[in-house]
Amino acid sequence: NYNYPIHISRNDEIGELATSFQLMQQQLAHNIEARNAFISNVSHDFQSPLMNIQGYASLLQTETTIDGAEYAAIIEQEAKRLSILTKQLLLLTSLEQANRPVQRVEVALHTQLRTIIRNHLWRADEKNIELSYELEEVCVNGDEELLYIVFDNILDNALKYTQSGGDVTVRAYKKDGYAYVEVEDTGIGLTAEQQSQVFERFYRVDVARKKGGTGLGLAIAKEIVQQHEGTIMIVSTFGHGTTFQTQLPANEKISSSM
Ligand code: ADP
Repeated sequence: NYNYPIHISRNDEIGELATSFQLMQQQLAHNIEARNAFISNVSHDFQSPLMNIQGYASLLQTETTIDGAEYAAIIEQEAKRLSILTKQLLLLTSLEQANRPVQRVEVALHTQLRTIIRNHLWRADEKNIELSYELEEVCVNGDEELLYIVFDNILDNALKYTQSGGDVTVRAYKKDGYAYVEVEDTGIGLTAEQQSQVFERFYRVDVARKKGGTGLGLAIAKEIVQQHEGTIMIVSTFGHGTTFQTQLPANEKISSSM
């Protein structure tokens, strides 16, 4: 129990000390609460795929009349989900490690975005979504691998939460010393309340929308962008579409190899 009340009300240095102890105590209590909620979410998210794997594996052993391939596919899918979850949790933990140096190299966002778009073309095709782009040359200083994770996740979401026949547009441009990346979709959109929560860990809008997601992708994206002194903003109209806008300090010079 970290609740040791300090009752000192004085206007001198002792009073100041007491106040700062009180604040530290509140922060500590808040951190413990957040950690407990985190552990409970993680446990829950591991539990359900594990139950499914156990259940279907045991059916495969006992039932002789079932379609084995179908059950094996479910087991594989659930194992994949656990693997993604573990990878994302390890990444979040490593990002939060104090004093972790952020690698700084020149990253040409337009080149990186082109690669990410190319890797998503088949999914857009499969869903009959028009995936287009307008990419100005713009560079930032940062960790190439981490920035890839950010934009890969945002584009992945745009395709995941847009119905067949919709549009997704990726833009990159430079303005007032900042590099902007916008991913706009004509998908299901987010209410104002949902917008305020999507960057929280494990937040998923509702069961119908789960689509196998972990609810960690945007929490990771925000953490990475903040470590690059940037911000992520959402503009969305529920039912009509969403734009995720990322702002990062631009690197002034563009190297000749681009
Ligand atoms: P997930 O793995 O569930 O996609 P994220 O952290 O990437 O987790 O996203 C959190 C939630 O935000 C998603 O479950 C989804 O409900 C909502 N969301 C994210 N991107 C979009 C989008 N482009 N349009 C509508 N909803 C979105």
